[in-house]
Amino acid sequence: MRVLVTGGAGYIGSHTVKLLGEQGYEVLTYDNLSTGHDWAVLYGDLVVGDLADKELLRKVFSEFKPDAVVHFAAYIVVPESVREPLKYYRNNVVNTINLLEVVEEFGVDKFIFSSSAAVYGIPDEVPVSEEAPLRPINPYGETKATVERILRDIKNSGKGMRFVSLRYFNVAGADPEGKIGFAYPNPTHLIIRAVKTAKGEYDRLEIYGTDYPTPDGTCIRDYIHVVDLSQAHIDALRYLQEGGESDVFNCGYGHGYSVKEVVEAVKRVTGVDFEVVEAPRREGDPPALVADNKKIKRVLRWEPKFDDLDFIIKTAWEWELKFSAQNQRL
Ligand code: UDP
Repeated sequence: MRVLVTGGAGYIGSHTVKLLGEQGYEVLTYDNLSTGHDWAVLYGDLVVGDLADKELLRKVFSEFKPDAVVHFAAYIVVPESVREPLKYYRNNVVNTINLLEVVEEFGVDKFIFSSSAAVYGIPDEVPVSEEAPLRPINPYGETKATVERILRDIKNSGKGMRFVSLRYFNVAGADPEGKIGFAYPNPTHLIIRAVKTAKGEYDRLEIYGTDYPTPDGTCIRDYIHVVDLSQAHIDALRYLQEGGESDVFNCGYGHGYSVKEVVEAVKRVTGVDFEVVEAPRREGDPPALVADNKKIKRVLRWEPKFDDLDFIIKTAWEWELKFSAQNQRL
């Protein structure tokens, strides 16, 4: 199968390209390198291009002739989406429409979309199932929910394109072989910030809020290893290949850890006792966000291999040490 991967030079995209390559798929990455890196694309060619450039997209589709598209390319920083909503709607929605128009023009009938647990906002029930209402609480989540609705409407139009939308929970960790990992400037995510603090890049780690209605007062999240998440995309491709219907799936392990538990685990795994300070709540953080993952296990036959917080942190830590060493050499 020939798979076009938008955003294949980014964090989750590059791990998925690696798995696709290892599992015998022909892969082509389309990425504008705004946050991705050419060195992260380990299989297939990289076309440096923007989804706003429909002519280039058409050229790539006519030459590569993809059987399926996996669409990662998007902006992902929630606070930035609050400050710059148009930037997010333009890239995450308008540019996705460009891509979908070309997908339709070329008759590609399989489409995998990177969605997010952010579509749920603050869910009424945890673990949250795919049936829960879409109530995003920030522009980033709105863009993901909007594209999900567009995909649903395309499906209802009967045009023949089928899609799988994967709603990611908290993605973390790195390639266990150490070839690729998270490499964005100014990360906001907890595990990355914690390992960077352990490494000495930051003086201290802030815990945003200790008065949540959870057992230790800090927020609970479902942390999923990036390789298990990448495999879910390949399981989704296989599902569509076998004739599966369009659908949406949560991607998480179905259980969570509090911020304090994660911080303790990072200290244990790294062996570094860094400074931690309690800070005010961050706006828009739900107290708990955990996936009900029964559907993805049943329908896509997804079998996670790395459901182990210490392993997630270990791979993130090893990558962080290696990546900073690489940067110093450059
Ligand atoms: N968090 C924290 N300190 C940090 C970064 C994050 O306390 O330096 C908390 C954040 O408030 C949330 C949890 O860690 O409760 C996970 O946040 P992250 O940004 O990693 O992912 P999100 O759940 O927002 O997608």
